[in-house]
Amino acid sequence: MKFEFATATRIVFGAGLAGDAGKIAAEYGRRVLVVIGGNAGRADPLLRALRDAGVSSVTFPVVGEPEVSSVEQGAALARRENCAAVIGFGGGSVLDAAKAVAAMLTNGGELLDYLEIIGHGRALAIPSAPFIAIPTTAGTGSEVTRNAVLASPQHKLKVSLRSPRLLAKVALVDPALTYDLPPALTANTGLDALTQLIEPFVCSRANPMTDGLCREGLRRAARSLRTAFSDGQNRSAREEMSLASLFGGLALANAGLGAVHGFAGPIGGSFPAPHGAICAALLPRVMAANLQALRRRAPASAALGRYDEVARLLTGHADATADDGVKWVRALTADLQIKPLGAFGIRDGDVADLTAKAANASSMKANPIALTPEELAETLRQAL
Ligand SMILES: [Zn+2]
Repeated sequence: MKFEFATATRIVFGAGLAGDAGKIAAEYGRRVLVVIGGNAGRADPLLRALRDAGVSSVTFPVVGEPEVSSVEQGAALARRENCAAVIGFGGGSVLDAAKAVAAMLTNGGELLDYLEIIGHGRALAIPSAPFIAIPTTAGTGSEVTRNAVLASPQHKLKVSLRSPRLLAKVALVDPALTYDLPPALTANTGLDALTQLIEPFVCSRANPMTDGLCREGLRRAARSLRTAFSDGQNRSAREEMSLASLFGGLALANAGLGAVHGFAGPIGGSFPAPHGAICAALLPRVMAANLQALRRRAPASAALGRYDEVARLLTGHADATADDGVKWVRALTADLQIKPLGAFGIRDGDVADLTAKAANASSMKANPIALTPEELAETLRQAL
């Protein structure tokens, strides 16, 4: 057994603790760049908390998916304004943008130098500026991951900036920030969290530390996602989903993912579909495809037992088997009104191209069994 586990320097978790952000930020600098999403008003309490702690701030909004150019603009602004640290306050996209801005603030050159696929993939040589991640959704776990997914509209691709240097100094997870999320966003992000607990648990690079996190996260997501969807103000359900999201982030960053995320990159790069919605539509299909392939070609694989355990964790029944797990996820996606991928304009004619791109995605390498091009295409087709 060999593994490595790395995460944020500090994880601070608890309802209401976003109010401590000022005190925490003051440890890293007197002037900070705050990367926020489209709804600027949401960050007002944070900006007040910073002011009260004697920290001045400049805000930088990132609306929609972060692009390579927005990261460069953010870093230029932070440099011009002499910011010593970067705070990301928002969903996964905002946190990813902020992570990349913190890295570009200290590392010279152009962002393209460091990007995989479309750039030179050079390693970030210098530690990032201190980065504090404050998620306002419960799903991506981006506060503890070491990659930033960025869109390059010019290449019609989403690519990752990857480095252990992207890890946050502080991940400040406050479930109270999620109480007002609308049901559809709760469903999409929550199913991303669920996917990010199942894929690392069955993947080929799972390790005992990530296993523990996945088991605990799956139990909590399974009993709370429906409640968080139907009754957003339910504090314990929101708390459990924030934990599930955090644990999913810890697991994926230190184990790996699988075919759902292998598809999610190319689909998200070509169609205006939210990441969580893509994962949600694919999850039960990929689980079924993996099970079928494992039974046919690798009946002795430990992954089959893992899928049985997933089913027990999800259903709460000691005698549940892998197929019960697939059924449970299918029923959940129906209850949470998850749309098929066709709703985002993806057609049968797109399957070949998306499948070819997905086959080369880095997440695909950790899938518990290598799916054939035909199996991948059929899985995607079923999700349309
Ligand atoms: Zn995801």
